[in-house]
Amino acid sequence: SGKCARAVAILKEFEEKCGTPIGKLKQVADAMDVEMHAGLASEGGSKLKMLISYVDNLPTGDEKGLFYALDLGGTNFRVLRVQLGGKEKGVAHPEFNEVSIPPHLMTGSSEALFDFIAAALAKFVDSEPEGFHPPPGRQRELGFTFSFPVRQTSIASGTLIKWTKGFSIEDAVGEDVVRELTKSMEKIGLDMRVAALVNDTIGTLAGGRFHNPDVIAAVILGTGTNAAYVERAQAIPKWHGPLPKSGEMVINMEWGNFRSSHLPLTEYDQALDAESLNPGEQIFEKIISGMYLGEIVRRVLLKMAEEAEFFGDTVPPKLKIPFILRTPDMSAMHHDASSDLKVVGNKLRDILEVSNTSLKTRKIVVQVCDIVSTRGARLSAAGILGILKKIGRDTVKVGEKQKSVIALDGGLFEHYAEFRSCLESTMKELLGNEAAETIVIEHSNDGSGIGAALLAASHSQYL
Ligand code: ADP
Ligand code: MG
Repeated sequence: SGKCARAVAILKEFEEKCGTPIGKLKQVADAMDVEMHAGLASEGGSKLKMLISYVDNLPTGDEKGLFYALDLGGTNFRVLRVQLGGKEKGVAHPEFNEVSIPPHLMTGSSEALFDFIAAALAKFVDSEPEGFHPPPGRQRELGFTFSFPVRQTSIASGTLIKWTKGFSIEDAVGEDVVRELTKSMEKIGLDMRVAALVNDTIGTLAGGRFHNPDVIAAVILGTGTNAAYVERAQAIPKWHGPLPKSGEMVINMEWGNFRSSHLPLTEYDQALDAESLNPGEQIFEKIISGMYLGEIVRRVLLKMAEEAEFFGDTVPPKLKIPFILRTPDMSAMHHDASSDLKVVGNKLRDILEVSNTSLKTRKIVVQVCDIVSTRGARLSAAGILGILKKIGRDTVKVGEKQKSVIALDGGLFEHYAEFRSCLESTMKELLGNEAAETIVIEHSNDGSGIGAALLAASHSQYL
């Protein structure tokens, strides 16, 4: 019918605008490389902040002792304790607790958020068996993974630049987040010291390096997206401090804020951005990461409902609710292998309250999911190529046999199989056979928690 043809026309136009042919991806990678240079050259030199992490040594495997980690940066926050036993014993007895953040705390006051975190930490410590109590006079030490853009002032201090991923707590911006946490811990008499302030990318890089010395970069694809990598200290013109002994410095790219005229953006992306908590910011993140992919799909389906009566002669009211279609649901629909697309039908019924969808309708929904996830996965691969270019590892040098491992983590990468396999195949496509042999994408499961504990250990006050 004419209505269906109209829906297909909307689909086709969307697909065209989301196109990521290899030439475009290479332009994106080149733009990433250029912006990396600019962000390293001067403060504010680029949309890419290229933040100096103060991590100039990654774990060696010799780290020892009992350490804690706190991971805040998405919908859940986690507390973790590990026993580090050096090269022989490795990481033992990891024990963790996951708590979801009440939504009102994501947009409330700084004090309320940090009080909540400190309380959860205290509860975790209080439930510990005797054997884990530190000897008298010794403080517990913590690696704090805080996955928002922070301007570090040392390994264990840094001020929040801005919130992302649905958080918006005005009075915390510009404050030292370690000081805020410490204040809340002191208030309830929790004797713990933050030994390292990192984010999830740096934690993942550290955790990855602990297991594999060839790890040179880490990428998070979860609620948000970001990357960190090991840079030569000499290649950071904006760094005026003493050159680290290692000659290296880990850089937190904050690549979620990358943008370029080469990015394929659509009217749906523009509207999503304009209506977001942070308009004009985090454009790369808004087309790649888990917080947004389902929402883009919803916006396309809404347009089809409004202009092509895609779900019948009325627009389903639920479809008008922002963020009602979550990325895990999109992923479930995308992976539906049943011949009648039963999962798609059920999701549309349960989430959008539209029943009796035809197979044709369901197929179009799957195609929308495919277009959105393919664009995100291919652009993520282009971003990784940008990093490899920056450090000269995108091509094979004669006689060299170096391997470069990228540690990946985050719920999107871990659970969205189509996204992950598309990212991996695009990486090969971009690199070509020979170079692809030298690059490994490795899932670093919970590297960030362990990584933060490892960094706390290597920055312990008792060393
Ligand atoms: P965070 O990024 O919040 O620290 P995670 O790394 O666990 O936490 O990522 C969670 C995000 O991963 C979710 O917000 C969601 O977007 C995405 N995600 C989780 N499960 C799935 C899934 N099954 N399919 C697709 N995406 C998923
Ligand atoms: Mg996380």
